[in-house]
Amino acid sequence: MARTLLKLLLPLALFAAALSARGAVLDVVPVRAQVYALVGPLGQRDAANAGDNATFGAVLTPEGVILIDSGAGDAGAQLIAQALRGVTSLPVRWVINTGSQDHRWLGNAWFAARGARIIALQATVREQRAQAAQETQALAQGPGAAEPSLAPMSSPDPLAGDEARLVLGGVPLELRRFGPGHFPGDAVVWLPGPRVAFAGDLVFADRMLGLLDNGSRVDQWARSFHAFESALHAQVIVPGHGRPCTPAQARAQTGDYLDWLVRETRPAAENMEDLEQAVTRIDAATPPGLRKLANAQELNRKNIQRAYLQFQMP
Ligand SMILES: [Zn+2]
Repeated sequence: MARTLLKLLLPLALFAAALSARGAVLDVVPVRAQVYALVGPLGQRDAANAGDNATFGAVLTPEGVILIDSGAGDAGAQLIAQALRGVTSLPVRWVINTGSQDHRWLGNAWFAARGARIIALQATVREQRAQAAQETQALAQGPGAAEPSLAPMSSPDPLAGDEARLVLGGVPLELRRFGPGHFPGDAVVWLPGPRVAFAGDLVFADRMLGLLDNGSRVDQWARSFHAFESALHAQVIVPGHGRPCTPAQARAQTGDYLDWLVRETRPAAENMEDLEQAVTRIDAATPPGLRKLANAQELNRKNIQRAYLQFQMP
């Protein structure tokens, strides 16, 4: 009898364990009343995180959820929806995109099919459209191989300019762009009431940021970060990667790192120092606070090299 019961219950227990392991991909962190961060893992994309190795945001209103960024494709969107079920039974009514990297927007179609309105600035949408094929392909070929079954979908009515004010479900918010960040179209969602900034890929916390060859330069990103910092004076920053943090932590782990890369690599490139030598020399001089960030081992040398090459080709 006991053995029969065990036979019956064991698959159920395994299924529940698998579900909770999957549910744990995004950690739901309360930020302020009705404001949450959905914090994904700091490492690379894999099958378990479906490309959601990033941080998302949610604001609960009486009329539904405002979701900041929609996850990497259908699978990423479903991980977000599952995480939200732990805090609300209300549907996602609005999705605001802060960027053009896969996890910022390739889940749009999944939420739109369930009634959500997709919102983004024109500069962000322009980048999404330019990079749609590349981002979808990278996701489909990546270690998670989470090819979206729905076609990439951008906001059909993007907002003009670098600053938009909205009231959604009675909550006032702003969509702001301060210049190129991790990607050229990166924007920030600002809640002026609780002074919370959903900074998207403009800010990385707990882990080292990565420079890409996508039209955004390290010195531009540094300028955008400082413009964001001085314009908003946030109390809490929900970064694009990592846990909600103070402005001081964002400065130390994103602003200071970008400034340091600029300060070290620009003169090396201008003096035509040998590239390999410069990378090794600068890498060895990395401040310990930056060296201890997650992913520093894989990314720091690459970042130094990319920054050097950007200054070589102004
Ligand atoms: Zn990202």
